[in-house]
Amino acid sequence: MVKYTLNGAAISTYSQCVSYIKSNELAKAISKARYFVEMCQSILYEENTGEFEDINDVLLCGIFFRGIQNFANLKQMTISLDWIRFPELVDQIWFEIWDCKERLEYTSSFMNSYINIENLDWIFDDIRSLCQDIDKEYGHGLYLSPGVLVEKITCNICGQDMRACEHITRRIYSGRICEKVLHRRKAIGNHILITERPADPRCRLWPWQNPDHLLYKKWPWQTEKEFVEAFCILYNFRLDDFMHGTGCGLKTRVKANWNNIKY
Ligand SMILES: [Zn+2]
Repeated sequence: MVKYTLNGAAISTYSQCVSYIKSNELAKAISKARYFVEMCQSILYEENTGEFEDINDVLLCGIFFRGIQNFANLKQMTISLDWIRFPELVDQIWFEIWDCKERLEYTSSFMNSYINIENLDWIFDDIRSLCQDIDKEYGHGLYLSPGVLVEKITCNICGQDMRACEHITRRIYSGRICEKVLHRRKAIGNHILITERPADPRCRLWPWQNPDHLLYKKWPWQTEKEFVEAFCILYNFRLDDFMHGTGCGLKTRVKANWNNIKY
């Protein structure tokens, strides 16, 4: 029963979202996708007992439409032709790009067979072109990658040491994504690496964060100074953030003196 309802709803929601996005009715696309995600969320909360064999499908559908919502957000954020010139907006777009990409890549082959979508190239091509615009304006970028000391790493499904259990990271078990749980007595970082190949591309150093950059001088930094001085070193991204309340997707920012950064 759930399977039939969910499947039918997924098919119609996807086709409505596509047509709203293509006709630039983005608020409608965002609200359709959000409504579907909330429906998945309530099914998962209420039926999270293993009673339904397709509880994993519900989670995958939720993640997929969360990605569609990210894409509609992206279209809205880039609707003005000069978006590339607004640092704070580019920063937000960059996060949205990666959230969208990771969610859709994670779910695309499942959705392909589940609701028979032809492919998502129309979305991925669009994202690629946004990335090219950013590269053209700001280069390929440098990224921060923190080293963190942990006491042990356990599995969120069974609670055992991750090296000993049989669960596989990022695979779904009874409606939950398997993730590593890091245990630290306190937050101890032992270094931050500056690299061209980061673990998480969201932690990007932007040229406008450099006081020598023209944009730094142009922007009204008196009020926005906090923003340019704080670099994102860690981003708590979750594919299924809608299952984890408001405490997720938080950026951990550090203040740093640009002149002390050597690379
Ligand atoms: Zn496990």
